[in-house]
Amino acid sequence: MEQLLTSTEFAAAGKRMHRLIADLYPICRSITGDGFRRTLGRLREQIPLEIHEVPTGTPVFDWTVPREWNIRDAWIKNAAGEKVVDFRRSNLHVVNYSVPVHGKMPLAELRKHLHALSDRPDWIPYRTSYYQESWGFCLAANELARLADGEYEVHIDSSLQNGSLTYGELYLPGRRTGEVLLSCHACHPSLCNDNLSGVSLVAALAELLRGVALEYSYRFLFIPGTIGSIAWLARNEAQASRIRHGLVVACVGDSGSFHYKRSRHGDAEIDRAVVHALKHCGKKYEVRAFSPYGYDERQFCSPGFNLAVGSLTRTPHGQFPEYHTSADNLDFVKPEALAGSLAVYLAVLRILENDARYRNLNPKCEPQLGKRGLYRTLGGLPDAGQLEMAMLWVLNLSDGEHSLLDIAERSELSFDSIHTAARTLVENQLLAPVSPAPA
Ligand code: ZN
Repeated sequence: MEQLLTSTEFAAAGKRMHRLIADLYPICRSITGDGFRRTLGRLREQIPLEIHEVPTGTPVFDWTVPREWNIRDAWIKNAAGEKVVDFRRSNLHVVNYSVPVHGKMPLAELRKHLHALSDRPDWIPYRTSYYQESWGFCLAANELARLADGEYEVHIDSSLQNGSLTYGELYLPGRRTGEVLLSCHACHPSLCNDNLSGVSLVAALAELLRGVALEYSYRFLFIPGTIGSIAWLARNEAQASRIRHGLVVACVGDSGSFHYKRSRHGDAEIDRAVVHALKHCGKKYEVRAFSPYGYDERQFCSPGFNLAVGSLTRTPHGQFPEYHTSADNLDFVKPEALAGSLAVYLAVLRILENDARYRNLNPKCEPQLGKRGLYRTLGGLPDAGQLEMAMLWVLNLSDGEHSLLDIAERSELSFDSIHTAARTLVENQLLAPVSPAPA
């Protein structure tokens, strides 16, 4: 796989991803229901997603697919009949998965169902109640403070009924049956960095890779968090073992530095590929060990699967103040940040796609590069010295044992320059791939 985009094309891709986020932002999503389906419907305008429906009550390992939740309207009216909280202004106002309710109650009683953030008085928090039947509203602490004593009328026009859990899947076949998994949760309502940034980045990757001859097969998942990955793994237990490398994509649109959370293996090829890509991306980054908390890597890395799946984000979940509040909005995610994240993801995939073992066909002393026009003939190129160094490293370590990623790590040169050097040496009959490449 080559560099797929120029820097101008990256900038355009960032804007396109931001536009997709803007399209999806108003939809009230949840872990089940029509909001999730509408989201997948919009994605299908860009990529040929397969839509799966898993019926309510289906056992998936230790879990059960819940009843489907849908909501049409919700509000709180004061004694004068004025709407003081209105779902139509922000879908975050309703606790996600609230059961239907209609009634009148005094403020003291209503307060038990109200959620606000005292330290961020202008922001609406995001709250869910998936696995416990209850209802509630979320509002800015400043709005809450303005509610006078008296009687309020509450109304949540929602339904919690037998239906199904919906997810979207796209499979792109490559030369190998071994798969690269790219997974994102798509279950949050009007929240951008967590999780529409991940949705738009995975969609952009799927769109780009569709036009490319691939070494690995690729599987893209748009699933509800936790229950979605559990349901997918339960339905695809045998096929899951084909996953060679995977990334859980989330929080890739803020302007913070990159964070990579390693797979449970800790030093799998995906871990090495991401760390290498980050080291050479010219941006700030941090690498963290695996922990059994976070997004769907928790399920992919559970001991019964133990897949080599890490998670590459910008600022991790819970570590930006806007996280799970109305401030995680369209202004918080930037086209440039999305484009930068796309570039790092593509750099990782280039490593996976192009990594291979080679054998030096002239292993006894250095071959004479000069007479082949490969040495000190590249004057004018800014990185001519680097390409020469890369060729010397590739020739020296290509004993059939070391992969190009091994060589890139040991030489501290970028994978792309090591790969370019290998290709140049193959063209000059100094290097040959060790065959066959694994499935
Ligand atoms: Zn979240």
